[in-house]
Amino acid sequence: MKTLVINCGSSSIKYQLLTMPSSKVLAKGMVARIGDENATLSHEVEGDQLERELPVADHKAGMQIILQTLTEGDHKVVEKLSEIGAVGHRVVHGGEDFSSSVPITEEVSSAIERYADLAPLHNPPNLTGIRAAQSTLPDIPHVACFDTAFHATIPPVAYTYALPTELYEKYGVRRYGFHGTSHRYVAQRAAAILGIRDNDFNGITCHLGNGCSATAVRGGKSVDTSMGLTPLPGLVMGTRSGDIDPAILFFLESKGYDLAALNKLCNKQSGLLGVSGVSNDLRTLSEAASQGNQQAQLAIDIFAYRVKQYIGSYAAVLGRLDAVVFTGGIGENSAEVRASSCEELDLLGIHIDAQRNQSVGGPYAEIQASDSKVKVLVVATNEELAIAHDTFNVAQELTKR
Ligand code: ADP
Repeated sequence: MKTLVINCGSSSIKYQLLTMPSSKVLAKGMVARIGDENATLSHEVEGDQLERELPVADHKAGMQIILQTLTEGDHKVVEKLSEIGAVGHRVVHGGEDFSSSVPITEEVSSAIERYADLAPLHNPPNLTGIRAAQSTLPDIPHVACFDTAFHATIPPVAYTYALPTELYEKYGVRRYGFHGTSHRYVAQRAAAILGIRDNDFNGITCHLGNGCSATAVRGGKSVDTSMGLTPLPGLVMGTRSGDIDPAILFFLESKGYDLAALNKLCNKQSGLLGVSGVSNDLRTLSEAASQGNQQAQLAIDIFAYRVKQYIGSYAAVLGRLDAVVFTGGIGENSAEVRASSCEELDLLGIHIDAQRNQSVGGPYAEIQASDSKVKVLVVATNEELAIAHDTFNVAQELTKR
């Protein structure tokens, strides 16, 4: 079955068309700058790239361009639209309502709309993408895959903030967690690499990209994660602060910062960018640090130190630890961050092999030293593939009904 995976942002639609269950990627690409006269389409088929600039009025027009590109012209991969059997949509926030991927009904759409309150930057464009895709492909199943779903198993002791209970009851203020599709995918891959069943796997998954989060996985289920009500807390990120003393915000308010300024400060101007004053991109920072920029080096050190703190904290939560798993652009590519995050963790039985850590390549690698009690894995994440699998499975279930 050909399965289309959609990840819709406020001005972009990323897509991938895969044949399932073989997981073959037929085409992938992105429409960016939606709403602009000079929007762009990038489309790739087996390494062959198509780049176009064109006006794209809205998300519906963007979807039509994607479907046209998949079915017409030199880069087409299907003869007709009816070959596409299902569409999987990445949705950021599913609140407490969804613990797995589900067919999108009117009720599901309403829930996504309701949770826009908690994810104002993400859920509205996700829903716009769903509506655009449903109107262009009305006769096939559309499936919602939530970033929060994998974390539905986190127990109250880990998701409850020590705030008055009425805030949870009235407004749903609690830890939800994000990047769930990636954490679940790499946890399952890690279990397969270790040769154990998913539900026997105890590990810490570290998704280190522009956004970063760590998850404690016990018996294949998420039991704690570093992001919270929103994606702001936890690890240091490209432009987000991660954990800070919340009273810093009250203090800055007394210095004249208003709410909008504080929001921008913590989400857009902090993290690697804020500390270094150079960039949110780790590659640029490593370059600057190697040329003697001390703030760039400090930013990288703080980043790795925080990852290490979470590894220690989640090791305590889990009790038994089979593996630490690194993924995401930084986790998969930065030997320096992996090495510093696992430095002097002998106490936990974690010991990296320097040579193996330097020569990581391919979809996964084991980088622990031979005397390490805990495996240390680098696993390339593939959220699109995980969404395609879920979508395929949900669509199969629907045909059985
Ligand atoms: P997103 O969260 O937007 O999907 P990615 O997972 O692509 O982001 O991660 C982006 C981060 O990965 C950037 O900080 C980038 O510098 C870093 N990165 C990508 N490739 C490398 C590399 N070869 N070495 C070090 N860092 C890298």
